[in-house]
Order: sequence, then structure tokens, then C-alpha cells
Amino acid sequence: MAEKSHFRPALARMMPYAPGEQPPPGKYIKLNTNENPYPPPPAVVEAIREAAGGPLNRYPDPMATAFRIAAAEQLNLPGPEWVLAGNGSDEILTLLVRGFVGEGQSLRLPYPSYILYRTLAEIQGAEWEQVAFADDWSLPEMFGQSDDKLRLVLLPNPNSPSGTVVSPERVAHFADQLDCPLIVDEAYADFAEQNCLDLVQQNERVMVTRTLSKSYGLAGVRFGFLVAQPQVIAELAKIKDSYNCDGLAIAAATAAMGCGDWLEDIKGKMAATRARMTERLSSLGFCVVPSQANFVWCQHPNGKHHQLYEFLKNNQILVRYMEFPEWGQGLRISVGTDQQIDACLMLIERYLA
Ligand SMILES: *Cc1c(COP(=O)(O)O)cnc(C)c1O
Repeated sequence: MAEKSHFRPALARMMPYAPGEQPPPGKYIKLNTNENPYPPPPAVVEAIREAAGGPLNRYPDPMATAFRIAAAEQLNLPGPEWVLAGNGSDEILTLLVRGFVGEGQSLRLPYPSYILYRTLAEIQGAEWEQVAFADDWSLPEMFGQSDDKLRLVLLPNPNSPSGTVVSPERVAHFADQLDCPLIVDEAYADFAEQNCLDLVQQNERVMVTRTLSKSYGLAGVRFGFLVAQPQVIAELAKIKDSYNCDGLAIAAATAAMGCGDWLEDIKGKMAATRARMTERLSSLGFCVVPSQANFVWCQHPNGKHHQLYEFLKNNQILVRYMEFPEWGQGLRISVGTDQQIDACLMLIERYLA
């Protein structure tokens, strides 16, 4: 007989979060986790090399001050005290849920969107409620409705898996209605035409998370950050690990903030490839949602998404098959290099023929 579990009941009940597959490098063309197909800016690699020659026997700066200064400048924020650095934006999301949502309270997220938020609620012993997107990927008024238990609202913007955007005006409207913080998860905002950074200065309850994993090609480094008003940043800093970001990551992220031209170039390339993907997939009969992120969500009327996913995998191409109960299934395909996307589209065409 198994010994009784000593874990909190909330943990015993929960299902683990399942990230996208990460097979050993080289085996697949990876279009499943929205990584950047291009390597990071050379200046970032150089900064890591330099930091590796530095005092690795010393702890890093607990607040990543150099990064905060660089980020504030790059993003036109009033100052570095508006920025909190994290070990990936997933860590920032963990801190936010830990900081704002207690046991028995609840958080809200749109549906379908980023599954991790539910896992974070479950770790807290908190509840989560989902508000479904409308058919045109807009959010109903209900998304901004307050209630007693509600302590945090999370909005990926652009959303995953759809790649769609809720306008900053609409986000501001929701924030005005709500009496709890509204987190805009801008993991993909560098690929989009608009973002919600300006709202942070207008409303203490609006906070924006960003990551270097997607647009800067640094998923392997683990660095993300929060933009919020200074009093919020100071409170959250109390609950983070003292040394949550390592010295190499801080050096890399600081250098990345100086690579605005590189980023513009990547954004242009990705937008061009994304347009080509959208057009080709549509001509192959897919329903493709116009995306402002580095991936596209597509559904085929034949409904054979899982079979197509398997076929692509057998041919060394990984995409993400997703199924949302009571909503539907489809494929989320990350924007790769033109060559990778051509290979993927050719196989899809062959499968459908
Ligand atoms: C990828 C992703 C993140 C995680 O970013 P990390 O900085 O790598 O932890 C957060 N939110 C969304 C919506 C994402 O897709």
C-alpha cells in the first residue's frame, strides 16, 4: 500500500503542465514551440562569452540592474524601477500568481489560450475561470467583470494559439472595469503592430510581461521581465528568489536590449514568411486565423489534424497539435525560415493530395 502523500491536497489533485516536445537538436525541423528559427544577435553571444570570463565565483546582481537600465531605455519607460527581471517570463507569471492569488481565490483567462496559467492557479490551490473568445477572436464584456473571489486576470496578447490581438483600447476598457490586476502577457508583442506598454503608466493595475525567448532567439537562456509601476515591482521583488537570474543571462539580456535594429530585421523577415504561410495554407483549404505572432493557427475542414501532425513528425517536422474541449482542434505552426516552411508546406500538400 502506498504511503499517504505529504504534499498539499491541491498538488495531489493537479495534472502537470505539458510543454511542447524538445527532442535532441538536429533530428527535426522544429515548428512546435514558437522559438526563433534564427540565432540570437551576435552581440548577445559575445556578451555571454565575455561574462563567462568574468567572476563566476561571485553571485550575480540580485536585481539585474544593468538589464533594467537598458530595458527602460529601449522601451522608453520612465526609469529602471519599472522593470523586474525574471528567469523566463514563466517565472514572472509564477510570481504574479503567488503574489496576488491566495488559496480559494480565483484568476481569469481567455479560452482557448495559454494553459500554463491554469497550472499556476492549481499550484496555489486557487481556482480559474475561462472566458471564451467570440468567433472573431474578440473578448466579451464579461472578461472585465469584477467578482469577489477574482484576484488576477491574465491575457496573452497576441494570444496563443490564435496569434490574434485585443486592441490596447479594449484592454484599457477591461482594466478600468476590473478591480484586480490585469496582466498582459506580451510574449509575442515584438511581432505585433501594437502593444499595451503605455497602459502601464496610466493604470497601476495593468502590468505587462515580456520574454526574450521568442523574438530575440534566446529560449535557451531563460530571461523574461515585467513592466509595472515601481510600487508593484518593489512588492514582487520581496517574493522572488534572491538570485533569480544568473550572470550569463543578465549579460545576454542586457546586450539584447541594444539590438533594436536586429529585432526590426527579424520582425520583417518573420512577417514575410508568415504571410506566405497564411496564403499557401489557405489555398490548401485550411482556415487560417490572421496572426500577429510568430506562428499561425490553422484548421482543415477534413478534421484530420492529428493524422497530419503524425505524418509531418514521421517526416522529421514537428508542429503543435492542439485540442480544446468544446472548442475544437487544429495545428499551431511556428514561423520558421523560408526553407523550413517550404519543406513543411510541401509535405502538407503531399498529405492532402
Ligand atoms: C512562450 C510563452 C511564455 C514563456 O516565455 P519564457 O520567457 O520562455 O518563460 C509566456 N507566455 C506565453 C503566452 C508564451 O507563449
